[in-house]
Amino acid sequence: MISISESKVKMEEAKKYIPGGVASSLRSSMKPVPLYVQDASGARVVDVNNNVYIDYLLAYGPLILGHAHPDLTRNIHEALLRGSTYGLQHDGEIRLAKRLTEILPCADQVAFSGSGTEAVMLALRLARAYTGKTKIVRFYGHYHGWSDSIFTSFPSPDFGSVQKDSLLSAAAPGTGGQSNGSLQELILLPWNDPDALEKALNEHSHDIAAVITEPVMCNSGCIAPKPGYMAFMREITSRMGIVLIWDEVITGFRFGLGGAHERFGIQPDLVTIGKAMAGGIPLSAVAGKKEILQLIEEGKVLHLGTLNGNSLSTAAGLTVIDTLSKDGSFAFSKLEAMAVMLAEGIRTLLKNKRISGVVNQLGPVFHVMFIDREEVSDFDTFNLRDTQAYTFFTEKLLEEGVLIRQTGLWYVSTAHGEAEVKETLQAIDRVLDKMKL
Ligand code: PLP
Repeated sequence: MISISESKVKMEEAKKYIPGGVASSLRSSMKPVPLYVQDASGARVVDVNNNVYIDYLLAYGPLILGHAHPDLTRNIHEALLRGSTYGLQHDGEIRLAKRLTEILPCADQVAFSGSGTEAVMLALRLARAYTGKTKIVRFYGHYHGWSDSIFTSFPSPDFGSVQKDSLLSAAAPGTGGQSNGSLQELILLPWNDPDALEKALNEHSHDIAAVITEPVMCNSGCIAPKPGYMAFMREITSRMGIVLIWDEVITGFRFGLGGAHERFGIQPDLVTIGKAMAGGIPLSAVAGKKEILQLIEEGKVLHLGTLNGNSLSTAAGLTVIDTLSKDGSFAFSKLEAMAVMLAEGIRTLLKNKRISGVVNQLGPVFHVMFIDREEVSDFDTFNLRDTQAYTFFTEKLLEEGVLIRQTGLWYVSTAHGEAEVKETLQAIDRVLDKMKL
């Protein structure tokens, strides 16, 4: 039994000065207590009690090169020695933007910001200004950051069948203090349902500025789009003059240098990228068609941010791209191979122990669910998973030295290797024996 006593003490102290003790509400969900870190390197993180964990949380996604990658650390340090941020232009911005237009198939131009939330805000603003329309279609189970204009709870228990009258009113605030007014512009639809999309767009196309979607429903079950669904979404939005935004904040850089849109061979009008893009340094971007991004140059859309394009983030972004592209597609095949080994290993363990569960894996991300179903391919079914059992699983894995996210989504980094995967599967083997399902 490990001790996490020091994290508990620090959390109590933190609560005196920081509301809830954490800097992002999601982190408070960690049981039995959010961990305090002392050190981290490669695939492992060390807490303040000196416990070492194999890390699959990876800071909720950014650490694609693992912790403290030597090149990333060196290049950020070198950039820092020349000044961290200027509020002036510098060559790093041009080099990174140029590189992004080379690797992202849909990108003519790139606008930098600091977080995925900000990139989504800008993309929505661009879409509205470009089309002169205001409504935004988004989907149940997807997450696009926490700004008032897009953050929702998913209130309807019966969203499998879309009711005409509820289309515009379905979106409800995701938090206290959120403006109801901004949600009036949202149309909330079930994902992976071409009929629901077609019906909504047919009825409201004259009002709809954009459809925003995760290309894979990473945030809720790692659910893949049905064959033809994303192509249909591309076709119908083009036909109706609606901007198609792919939120690649998770899939960007994880599904290959060109993200999911390269992998699926579909060109959205705009993509938002963040997280893995700078390996753990704040950086995000909207990339896409020049005719839309040009609205910024024309002064029709304002794009602001004191620290946008700072030299630390551009040095980090360039290093991530260089590192991932160094050996052709090797880094991505390695990431995917690790995810496949883990996902298949967990499936085999579940089967051998007769525990009901589903592991959805696509590319280098996967989601583990305890659920009595053969497959999880929609948000309704995803919501039936046993979240208590998963919380127990995460707590017991932590005791075994494996750190995973409470919600079921796992990330791997290029620092993870077969040794870590084997160690992890052995730990899972022991933990599943303790589970009474
Ligand atoms: N979009 C997606 C798909 C995300 O998963 C997230 C964060 O998890 C965001 C946007 C928001 O990014 P950030 O947390 O950097 O604001």
